[in-house]
Amino acid sequence: MGFAYIIEHMEEDDESSKVVPPWVELEYAHMRSLAGSGSQVHFTHLSQNSSNSLTEKFTKSGSDGQAEAVCHEVGVLDLIKERLGGDLEKVCLLDPKAEKELSPEDGDGRFEWFLFGGILGDDPPRDRTAELRLMGFPSRHLGPTQMTTDTALGVTKRVVQDKVALSKIPYIDHPTIRFNAKESVEMPFKYIVQNGEPLLPPGMRELLFEDMNKGFEF
Ligand code: SAM
Repeated sequence: MGFAYIIEHMEEDDESSKVVPPWVELEYAHMRSLAGSGSQVHFTHLSQNSSNSLTEKFTKSGSDGQAEAVCHEVGVLDLIKERLGGDLEKVCLLDPKAEKELSPEDGDGRFEWFLFGGILGDDPPRDRTAELRLMGFPSRHLGPTQMTTDTALGVTKRVVQDKVALSKIPYIDHPTIRFNAKESVEMPFKYIVQNGEPLLPPGMRELLFEDMNKGFEF
C-alpha cells in the first residue's frame, strides 16, 4: 500500500519556455521513482502551461516502478477539500521547523498524505515553507539540514513506507559534485547516499555543469 505525496509548486515558470524550469522537471520526475509504484504524487499550484507540459512528459516516460503523477492548477488546500473533505489532519507537512521528527509510526494510519514545498531552496534557507505552515497542517521535520524536495520525499517514503528510522538512512551533507579535475560545485543541501554518491535526479549532474558554465549559483 503506498501513500499520496503533494508538492505545492512555489516557483515561477521559466521566462522563455513559460513552463517549469529544467531543474524542476528533473526533480519532479525523480520524485515519481522515489515514491515508487502503488503511490501517487500530486503536483499542485501549477500554471496551465506547466500542468499540460508535465502531464505530457510524465505520460511519455511511462509508469514502470513509478508512482502515478497527477498535475493540478489548483493549490493544495483546494485539492484537500476535493479529496479529503478539507480534513487537514490526514496531511503531514514536511517542515524543517516542525517540532517533531518524522517516524515510521507516522505511516501507520495517522497520515495518508505527505506535503512538501516545491521550492528550489536557498543558501541560507529563507524559510519559504512558512507559507504552507500558516495553512495549519500537522508537521514533522527530517532533521536540521535542508534537503532538496525530491530528497525530502525519498526520505519520507523510506521512513513511513519502508519503516526505516530517519537516523538509519545514509546521508551526505553539502556534497561537492566534481565534474572534472578543475571544475566542481558544492551543493547546499543534505542528500541520500547511494553507491557512495549523493542521490541526484537523473540528468541533474549534467544540468548543474551546464548552469555552472552559464554562471548560475544558488
Ligand atoms: N528554503 C526552504 C525553507 O527554508 O523552507 C526549503 C525548501 S526545501 C529545498 C523544499 C521542501 O522540502 C521544503 O518546503 C520541505 O517541505 C522539504 N524539506 C526540505 N528539508 C527538510 C527538512 N530538513 N525537514 C522537513 N522538510 C524538509
